[in-house]
Amino acid sequence: MQYRKDKKGNEISLLGYGCLRFSKKGSGIDIEKTERELMEAIRAGINYFDTAYVYGGSEAALGEILERNSCRDQVKIATKLPHYLMKSVEGAEKLFQEELRRLRTDYVDYYLMHMLSDIETWNHLVRLGIKEWIEEKLAKGQIRNIGFSYHGSAPMFKTLVDAYAWDFCQIQYNYMDEHSQAGREGLQYAHAKGLPVIIMEPLRGGRLVDLLPRSAKKIFELDQEGRTAAEMAFKWLYHQPEVTCVLSGMNSLEMVRENVKTASESYEGCLTEADQELISQIKTEINRTVKVGCTGCGYCMPCPKGVDIPGTFRCYNAAYSEGRASARKDYRFFAMKKNPAGASECIRCGKCEKHCPQQIEIREELKHAAKELEGFQYKVVKLGAKLFKLYG
Ligand code: SF4
Ligand code: SF4
Repeated sequence: MQYRKDKKGNEISLLGYGCLRFSKKGSGIDIEKTERELMEAIRAGINYFDTAYVYGGSEAALGEILERNSCRDQVKIATKLPHYLMKSVEGAEKLFQEELRRLRTDYVDYYLMHMLSDIETWNHLVRLGIKEWIEEKLAKGQIRNIGFSYHGSAPMFKTLVDAYAWDFCQIQYNYMDEHSQAGREGLQYAHAKGLPVIIMEPLRGGRLVDLLPRSAKKIFELDQEGRTAAEMAFKWLYHQPEVTCVLSGMNSLEMVRENVKTASESYEGCLTEADQELISQIKTEINRTVKVGCTGCGYCMPCPKGVDIPGTFRCYNAAYSEGRASARKDYRFFAMKKNPAGASECIRCGKCEKHCPQQIEIREELKHAAKELEGFQYKVVKLGAKLFKLYG
């Protein structure tokens, strides 16, 4: 296993274990199977395990397995504060204590503000006293490193990076999101500020493997060097020195072994010219299924109504390249923001179109995107977010 350093010089394995996708048994987690996979990963040198309060049963399963195998000290636990469930700093303390109980530990190595969406949300938490609470936890050693996870655009990501003395951060990043979400721009910004960056969704929730267009799958099938879709997606990340650790939600021994092998063989600058060419061919095939030629540059932003234009087009395109269900799931993140604004809230002022280098008819395309993405579940989540804001 290869290791990269965190802000304090501690080693983090290049491959991290995402604990969201543990195998299920009945209505709970299959502990025995998960234990075999986790222990295989620990033996192979993986030392970073990422879970969250809201990953149904994941914290408790991780805690049970680590305790049963007496290996808490060999690993670093990352978990997250569901700040959207709390109304006061006392609420944060209650959630944190529950997480410690579930994890059967008295400290968390890496603690994240879960899905910190914008600066208003952070400022709201600051007003509640979250900074003082964090400082106290750091001083007592109950939290060893503080960070945030993020799913929005690059400009807002940079604002959040600068908003506090974070120890690390976590972003969605993969070769198809190079210029969307925080993207390469955000990654390099955080790195330049000395922040280790943990990567989530390296395979876009498996879609860069299972849901590739037929033509892209064919390229891998015919590849003389036998390179695989997962291997290339991971190597693309490991190649970049700004990446500290890449999370993979593993739930089979084969997956653990294959991912460990790739991580062990990878290093900064490991992508060959042939690898880069292969990835570029795959991107071309994925982009062929694209509905809107948005590059995610963000020049059209900000929209006065708060519509996340590039984010909406990313989901709209994904609905055609990767499937409607997963695209709609991604899009529902928008509904959970503090001031959610979906594509349907565009008032057709036209301001954005003046700045689009791709000359996209943004207003028209947003109309189509709203039809495609704003289904029943989106409306329910949005209503829930609105009520929470009113009465929360
Ligand atoms: S046309 Fe719609 S999306 Fe564009 S800036 Fe105006 S409100 Fe925002
Ligand atoms: S300016 Fe155009 S290409 Fe750039 S993010 Fe906006 S819609 Fe996409």
